[in-house]
Amino acid sequence: MVERLDALRRAGLLCRAGHRESSGGRRAELLAVNDTGHAALVADLGQSHATLAVVDLRGTVFARTELRLSSSDCPKKTLSTLVETGSSLLEASGKREELCAVGLSVPGQVDHAEGVTVAPWSMRQWSGVRLRGPFADAFGVPVLLENDANALALADYYAMGRPDATMVGVKVGTGIGAGVVIAGRPHRGETGSAGEIGHMRIEGSDKRCACGRRGCVAAEASGQALVRALRPHGARSVGDVVRWAKEGRAEAVDAVSAAGRLVGTVLATVVTIVNPRYVRLGGAVGVLTPFVEALRMTVESNAHTSALRKLDIAATSLGDQGMLVGLSGLVADEMLSPARVDALSGA
Ligand SMILES: [Zn+2]
Repeated sequence: MVERLDALRRAGLLCRAGHRESSGGRRAELLAVNDTGHAALVADLGQSHATLAVVDLRGTVFARTELRLSSSDCPKKTLSTLVETGSSLLEASGKREELCAVGLSVPGQVDHAEGVTVAPWSMRQWSGVRLRGPFADAFGVPVLLENDANALALADYYAMGRPDATMVGVKVGTGIGAGVVIAGRPHRGETGSAGEIGHMRIEGSDKRCACGRRGCVAAEASGQALVRALRPHGARSVGDVVRWAKEGRAEAVDAVSAAGRLVGTVLATVVTIVNPRYVRLGGAVGVLTPFVEALRMTVESNAHTSALRKLDIAATSLGDQGMLVGLSGLVADEMLSPARVDALSGA
């Protein structure tokens, strides 16, 4: 224990926070985690965009930028653009010397041992791409990967001050995913596929899904599916759907509410099995009021009564900053993990 504290202090991760009288009459030194002075480069990689930011271990954002991505771009080229953009962001923020890790959130499953993703079907060319290598080579620091819905669930968990509670995060953007945080850790499952609720089946639906099967909730309720449904009205992107729903255009509000009911149907099963305290909704579609309300009503009428007793369902309070907060918390946890501290102390 003492060795670990010394190692943390030498690495600048612990600092003095004053003294207090201990029971034996000696003044005991109070230590606090020094979460400033360490920066991380974090990137949220989506199906049509990427957000990069330089943050500290509390999630303070020093610099951020957005990139538009096309699903037809080759992953190798996109990765080198991300590395270049990250590098200029670090220079611009003056935090290059403080960089301690890179964190990436990606849609789809993550094989943590291999550092590769099993990408969603709509981004098939990203499957099996080695994500850590280009960042590790360019920056010489550990590279952490996380599924985007897990990062969202973690973000709200950290922002609430790490409550002793189970959290489910649901992200509905271009696609649909969920993340589960139990006892402060993302529950990833045996093959990293825990929370893939987008491909749970809807009774009575026969729509073909990008995964090749029929009747998946994503085939009817994802941002992509909403664009398809609203195409006769002129919708071309998820951005159009979101804007129209916010403007109160009836066809968009109806479609978004219907999506909320469908996701609510599968979420009711998740809620009954996991019995979480909090459900937080994120993603461009997931935070829309008609979506949140329809989802909440559906969960309330379908989940087990006892699982509803303490359940709190709301849109994330973090806006589009969520992933960045989740990733910075992941980096902080990694920096303070027993294995890493043992490595610092030479144990
Ligand atoms: Zn599917």
